Amino acid sequence: MKELPELNVGVVGHIDHGKTTLLNRLTGKFTDTHSEELKRGITIKLGYANTIISKNGGKFNNEGKGEKIKYISFIDAPGHEMLMATMLSGAAIIDAAILVVAANEGIQPQTREHFMALQAKNVKNIIIVQNKIDLVSKEKAAENYKIIKEFVKGSSAENSPVIPISAQQGINIEKIFEALDEIELPKKDEKSDPIFLVARSFDINKPGTKIDNLKGGVLGGILKKGVLKVGDEIEIKPGLSFKKNNQYVYETLKTKILAMFKGDGKVEEALPGASLSIETNLDPYLTKTDSLTGCLVSKAGILPEITHEIKLKAELFEKVLGSKDNQESKQFTVGDMLMLSVNTTITVGTIKKIKDGEMDLHLNMPVVSLSGNNVGIARNLDGHWRLVGSGIVL
Ligand code: GDP
Ligand code: MG
Repeated sequence: MKELPELNVGVVGHIDHGKTTLLNRLTGKFTDTHSEELKRGITIKLGYANTIISKNGGKFNNEGKGEKIKYISFIDAPGHEMLMATMLSGAAIIDAAILVVAANEGIQPQTREHFMALQAKNVKNIIIVQNKIDLVSKEKAAENYKIIKEFVKGSSAENSPVIPISAQQGINIEKIFEALDEIELPKKDEKSDPIFLVARSFDINKPGTKIDNLKGGVLGGILKKGVLKVGDEIEIKPGLSFKKNNQYVYETLKTKILAMFKGDGKVEEALPGASLSIETNLDPYLTKTDSLTGCLVSKAGILPEITHEIKLKAELFEKVLGSKDNQESKQFTVGDMLMLSVNTTITVGTIKKIKDGEMDLHLNMPVVSLSGNNVGIARNLDGHWRLVGSGIVL
């Protein structure tokens, strides 16, 4: 599997437009697996599924027919307006996105907001699917197509394909494989020190496992650059957080890579771009229920110190896209409380200083800040975090 080119793709869009159904079609796997998600019929956490695209006599499939051409890891983003932060963390670990727009409803608040989140996180490869075409007339589909084209005009997705599909009926799905095949793979930077973004962490042991058989804590995420190998000594930052004298303190975790998994298989070495799970030597208690989500991993001694202070070059969007009334944005000012998504970390900070689009913030929760990183900026409006701008770490 290692030798196949790999692409990480996010599936985004408004709630109920068919993201999870589409992902099920694309991979044969169902990503709503948490009991709460099944009960409520919505995606709450990021969902993961993967597939291999094959090509057989010019036709694409995910059934292994013909020549295998690409390994795709999908991330299913929640479309609910309350879950913008989760969506933003997902956007940090993808190379490309599929924007799902239901033809019967058209562009909705989270269609706009997710689309801008992709811009904020600098995700340039976007495939647009016009879903639920089984529900609309030809005329309505054509009208909806025009509206979508108008919506992306002037953005990096201006020339993106817009593919009419029915996720539920399985219509035109192979056209999406074709579009995914055409996406140019991101350049792989194998020379740099490794940077692995943790998107989830877990304890894979079944309750009651005997101590001798216990597996170490597992980290899931993406290797942004560099190479990791089984046996590498690694460092995890900010790491463990706990309360001491009424204040949160953070402790870097040091451990060793015991094993790595990609899809269903074990790998000895991971190359940049790989979406993988890392089994570490950590007590599985430490990685339980996403406790290390948002952390960065590298080889020992590489990552900079964590910091509560961050400097950004920030840009405010003209409109608040996630709100139903599409209201005007209010300028950033000193004292504003903002939610930032830095890599897969979500943290809240206060503006301390602002001048010519550059702002200094004090963060409640520290981050490993790497200059050049793209940051999504959200503001709390009427009780919801709304994406209002984007920034670059200085
Ligand atoms: P998500 O919130 O974007 O993940 O949307 P879901 O995948 O959960 O789908 C929401 C609802 O739309 C479900 O009842 C699906 O069965 C239905 N749905 C999804 N795709 C289609 C489609 O192509 N046609 C029709 N008629 N219904 C669809
Ligand atoms: Mg869903």
